[in-house]
Amino acid sequence: MAQQPEQFKDLGLDTRLLAALEHQGLHTLTEIQDRAIPVILNGYDLIASSKTGSGKTLAFLLPSLQRLIKTKALSKRDPRALILAPTRELAKQVYEQLRSVTSGTSFNIALLLGGENFNDQIKLLRRQPHIIVATPGRLANHLNERSLMLNGLELLIMDEADRMLDLGFSKELNQINDAADHRHRQTLMFSATLDHAEVNEMAEKLLKAPKRIAVGAAN
Ligand code: ADP
Ligand code: MG
Repeated sequence: MAQQPEQFKDLGLDTRLLAALEHQGLHTLTEIQDRAIPVILNGYDLIASSKTGSGKTLAFLLPSLQRLIKTKALSKRDPRALILAPTRELAKQVYEQLRSVTSGTSFNIALLLGGENFNDQIKLLRRQPHIIVATPGRLANHLNERSLMLNGLELLIMDEADRMLDLGFSKELNQINDAADHRHRQTLMFSATLDHAEVNEMAEKLLKAPKRIAVGAAN
């Protein structure tokens, strides 16, 4: 018997998240969302791939936000979640989806892009955002300048990990990983493909006993 497609309202998500989805007219999960959301809600590290346009952003945002809502912050000062994306444009897109889906919540969110005024970003960081979306180079600059600490980080999310590595950000990813080394951290890696040696190497290093999901691929 064919299963009914999974609905967002059946995931047990916080009503504020559901209201935001409803507002955007989103009801039915895509395949990557259907497979990744329960794994992330259960606290596992995850490496996942699925093609462009398949809804990967909400696949990591929704369960991540749900976990942040349900658990007590490790730190009052440091960000709870950090989402890295390879380019300014992609980071902006993630930030816009984050902004829509958190519109009914009290999460303080910040976007830190390369090429923008550093001191303005320091001011943003003084407001102690709970969730930061950033490009890796600029985030590493803030770590170097000590305008940001990642001791309390609960969630590290790398979106388009394959592109981040193709663009040469492995040094920054390692630095960020070292700064955010915490035994309670959950780490998620999304990529257009898992058939990428550097992605797998980075996953070995950064993820703990990860679950692996590849939608629409042989592996
Ligand atoms: P990807 O990161 O996999 O390339 P995105 O997360 O950017 O894809 O999503 C692509 C588009 O699909 C976005 O406009 C998003 O709002 C939309 N979308 C995401 N999830 C769903 C869904 N469950 N139902 C309908 N549209 C969705
Ligand atoms: Mg994407």
